[in-house]
Amino acid sequence: MEIKSASFVMSNSQVEKCPTSKLPEYAFIGRSNVGKSSLINMLTGRKSLAKTSGRPGKTQLINHFLINHEWHLVDLPGYGYARVSKKAKKTFQKFITDYFQQREPLVCAFVLVDSRHEPQKIDLEFMQWLGENQIPFSIIFTKADKVKPKALEKQVNDYNAVLLETWESLPPYFITSSSKNLGGEEVLNYIDEINKSL
Ligand code: GDP
Repeated sequence: MEIKSASFVMSNSQVEKCPTSKLPEYAFIGRSNVGKSSLINMLTGRKSLAKTSGRPGKTQLINHFLINHEWHLVDLPGYGYARVSKKAKKTFQKFITDYFQQREPLVCAFVLVDSRHEPQKIDLEFMQWLGENQIPFSIIFTKADKVKPKALEKQVNDYNAVLLETWESLPPYFITSSSKNLGGEEVLNYIDEINKSL
């Protein structure tokens, strides 16, 4: 998919206030600092469409971007960051879950995980929750440039093995590096294929 246009639409913390258009929507979520903003900037070819956060946990809003006047890319707050106060954490968790449970145009969630790390409890729990709520998701391994190819292959295989302990089949997954501009094309083509099938 060629990105012809990408623009910011709105930010808010309530699913009721999200855009009323019925354009297909793809949400990006993951732990703070996983590389979500960098990935969104790579996908859209815009250097600073999504703000790369100096201080993780700061941007706790649902951010809508309009891509090619065809679909919405949604940048969701990073979850599971200890520095946000208990109360703030609770609020954003509720509006995240509200978003996923109530947002009709949502087609697929992309759960970002850092290629270097073992499966994290919070990510696995979140995927479990998505499954229980019948929300389709894919996994994006980020920062792949930080791991040597052999080790990366092992990381991904190990991750999948952990998923297969609770899932019957594996979700689609993508391996990306925003610093090396890798893997974005595959993610965009996947979105394109889904859009064409709708
Ligand atoms: P966010 O908090 O999930 O939006 O993460 P950011 O996109 O702000 O990235 C967090 C940190 O990881 C920043 O210092 C980025 O420069 C770095 N980073 C993000 N993506 C990559 C990547 O693909 N490779 C490398 N080496 N670093 C990355």
